[in-house]
This record gives sequence, C-alpha cells and structure tokens, in this order.
Amino acid sequence: MKRLMDRIGDTVKGRIAEAELSPLEDEIRKYILREFARNGRPPSPKEIMKELGLSSVDLVNQTIEKLQKFDIITKEKDKIISAYPFSAAKTRHRVIFEDGHEVYALCATDALGIYFMLNQNTTILSRCPECEKEIMVVVKDGKIDSCNPGGIIEFVSNRERGECTAQTLCPFINFFCSKKDLEKWREKNPEFRYGEIYSLDDALEHGKTIFGDFLK
Ligand SMILES: [Zn+2]
Repeated sequence: MKRLMDRIGDTVKGRIAEAELSPLEDEIRKYILREFARNGRPPSPKEIMKELGLSSVDLVNQTIEKLQKFDIITKEKDKIISAYPFSAAKTRHRVIFEDGHEVYALCATDALGIYFMLNQNTTILSRCPECEKEIMVVVKDGKIDSCNPGGIIEFVSNRERGECTAQTLCPFINFFCSKKDLEKWREKNPEFRYGEIYSLDDALEHGKTIFGDFLK
C-alpha cells in the first residue's frame, strides 16, 4: 500500500489533471502561483486580467471558480486565499527567499516543495505544535542544507476525508522538533494521533514529487 503522503500527493496532482484546464486557464493558474511566490499574496482578478492582456475580468473569475471547484485554489468571495502550496493567511510555516521576501505555506510538505516549484533556495521557519519553539530548515540546491534543532521530523495526521485538502489536511501536516514532542502532542490530541512520521529527507522528496512540475 502506498504511504499516506504519496496518496495525498497523488490527490493534489490528480486534481490539476482532472480539471483539464485550457491553455489560458492553465496560464492563469501559473500566473497566480508565480505572483503568490513573488509578492507573498495572490493577485486580484483585475491584476490577472491586465497582466495577461485579457479583455474581461469575467473569464478570470470563471477560471478562479473552476480552480476552486477542483480544489487547486481556495477563495472567499472574489479573493483568492490559498493556492497550493501558498496561503494568503498566516500559517505555522513561513518560507523566506534569498532576497528576504517571504510567503506562508499551507503545510510542512508544501513549504519544502516550494524550492522545487521555483528552483529557489529557501529558509523555512516553522513552529513545533507541542512546544511552539521555532524550527528552521534551509533548503539549498535541492537538499536540506541545515536544520535546527537537529531532530526535526514531519508528522502527517491521517485525516483523509472531505474534499478540500487545504482545510482538512494541511493543518495536520507539521514539523515537530523531536519524536519526544510528537509523542507528547499525540497523547494530548487523540483525534489526530493516527498518521505517519517522515524524516526531513523523505518529506523533502514528497515536496519534490508533488510540486516539481507544478509550473512546467
Ligand atoms: Zn517541540
């Protein structure tokens, strides 16, 4: 049987295939991701329209609707609030680029995957859900360059249900500072205790598999 994170990855990637986006719709999807990465926030429908030289904002809004339907992005009213791997709202995972600008990632795997989507070195600052201490992971040249503390692991809580991964799963894919803290947290959170533990290298590999060809 496939491991939990592989199944989640298949779902996230599968939704883009299922959506059967037209070339223009896919261009809009990619533009949203690039702008999100560059500015730490998603573009507005008007900005998308102008930048892509479209004559009406309706086409952009229809595309955003469609992307939401396939859980490629989430939106509230006319505003995009997340697009895998990015979140407009603050999350536990901050991703800082080499020029100093930053963006929030939806989950630990998404934070690691950003390197592979953009081919840009990143520093991830996260927090252990048990002790709330800062966790730092530096991804450079496609590898874990350094991490602090040394015993960081990823825990993926098994909550496969519902349609929207961003809301049901992402909050339960986290870095923990140590196995010891993960065990303490699982005791206190019995409803989330089932799941799988991954090393940082395995988690990085998942990020690469999911996001490596997101912009290709
Ligand atoms: Zn901890």
